[in-house]
Amino acid sequence: DIGLIWFRRDLRVYDNAALHLALTQCAKVYCVFIFDKAILEPLPRADRRVEFIRESLVALDNALRQLSPQNKAGLIVRHAMASDEIPALAATLKVQAVFAARDYEPQAITRDTLVQQKLSLAHCAFITCKDQVIFEGREVLTQSGTPYGVFTPYKNNWLARLTPQDVKHNDSAPLAQHLHGCPPEYQKPVPSLSDLGFESTNLSNLKIPTGEQGGQALLKAFFEHMDSYHTTRDFPAIKGPSYLGIHLRFGTVSIRQLVQLALQRQTAGSTGAGTWLNELVWRDFYFAILANFPHVTLQPFKPEYAAIQWESGSQAQALFHAWCTGQTGYPLVDAAMAQINQTGYMHNRLRMVAGSFLVKDLGLDWRWGERYFAEKLNDFDLSANNGGWQWVASSGCDAQPYFRIFNPVSQSEKFDPQGKFIRRYLPQLAKLSNTAIHAPWLAKPLELQAASVTLGVDYPQPLVQHNEARAQTLARYAVVKKKA
Ligand code: FAD
Repeated sequence: DIGLIWFRRDLRVYDNAALHLALTQCAKVYCVFIFDKAILEPLPRADRRVEFIRESLVALDNALRQLSPQNKAGLIVRHAMASDEIPALAATLKVQAVFAARDYEPQAITRDTLVQQKLSLAHCAFITCKDQVIFEGREVLTQSGTPYGVFTPYKNNWLARLTPQDVKHNDSAPLAQHLHGCPPEYQKPVPSLSDLGFESTNLSNLKIPTGEQGGQALLKAFFEHMDSYHTTRDFPAIKGPSYLGIHLRFGTVSIRQLVQLALQRQTAGSTGAGTWLNELVWRDFYFAILANFPHVTLQPFKPEYAAIQWESGSQAQALFHAWCTGQTGYPLVDAAMAQINQTGYMHNRLRMVAGSFLVKDLGLDWRWGERYFAEKLNDFDLSANNGGWQWVASSGCDAQPYFRIFNPVSQSEKFDPQGKFIRRYLPQLAKLSNTAIHAPWLAKPLELQAASVTLGVDYPQPLVQHNEARAQTLARYAVVKKKA
């Protein structure tokens, strides 16, 4: 049989489940990636993710060539509507089956259903498999067979279910002779960014490593400090986390490899590895929430939170603009927004602090923040982003009794005590003392003067007073309390 592997968010050769499946089932396998116009067209013209994908495809093409040089294997890359192009390519290449790793986002499911229908009309199979997660939506269920809506029992069951088989790697190398190069008319280099209608970004200046090798390099670096993850992960000025989010997003690293490594290290006594594994389980959890409760993309997970009245109108728009551009007057929030705007990354602690500020200090709809992050984050993933924002808004799967309100100043004092992170992103505040940097409006005029800071000129006055905002939020959320 002839098969076609359609790479999507699994841009690697090592432990790639769909590639392995295609190679075990077909004597001859072609490889394709589609820059899907349906996804690319709405994006801003400079987007680090498009550049990351492009660079990772160059690496993938090379890796495939190295796997099967005798058959001149390589990647066909097209810029088209995937739902048209895959069936067309399958017909041209006379394949009997198209293989792909399952994608769980609603738009992807719609696209895949359409592709499957078109392929089946041409008697071509569409064979999908699990690759992105350890356990899919309905694999970890409560005793009564229903999906979990709370993390801890989900995690306990997830861990109890886990067997070596679940993290077993797929080795495609012994099957590489089945990989084939495409017919000459498709042998084109990976399109450039400008061919795709995009401009280059600051991705390489940021030194974000791309492709499978980039993912492995980050993993190796993280291995050096994984053991202290539980103590460093909350401090944005420290290299505590792995920065592997973008690699998990585009599948340049295998989740099975990460879970296996974390488990081994945890078994050897590493608390840091155990805490990190917990985060990888959160990732599966949010994938499961999206699969089992698809209403979360538009509505609160907990329906009673739909009663909340968010701020609206031009004043709300102005507040939102100030938040997006890092002009709230709260240094940690503004530094966090500068980080996402300049780099596409935001530290997890800051996602919580900046998110909470939007919802609980400015009274704005969490979906506005969700949309902004979706546009900006290099590691944007619908499931984790939605889960994170619902957590921030207290409308999600959280066991907390009612809801929490972060104090942006005490969060700053606790997690950036010397203001190192703030100074990095807000150099205009660099000369303020370790005390004043968290709340410049409380500093003595002489100190501000000595640090060359004029509030309202060099740095904004606070947009709201936290205590007043807190009281308003309590009132706003009272509708939930009454209903709950
Ligand atoms: P590490 O700390 O090294 O964690 C390793 C991996 O575990 C991450 O790459 C990620 O895949 C997973 N992970 C870690 N924390 C979480 C979590 N709370 N929920 C789900 N998965 C997690 N994560 C995304 O991958 N994409 C998003 O779009 C996203 N949006 C978020 C929005 C908000 C408001 C919040 C509060 C969190 C969001 N997160 C998101 C979760 C988390 O902030 C990021 O996964 C993490 O900061 C990525 O950095 P890292 O790779 O260095 O993480």
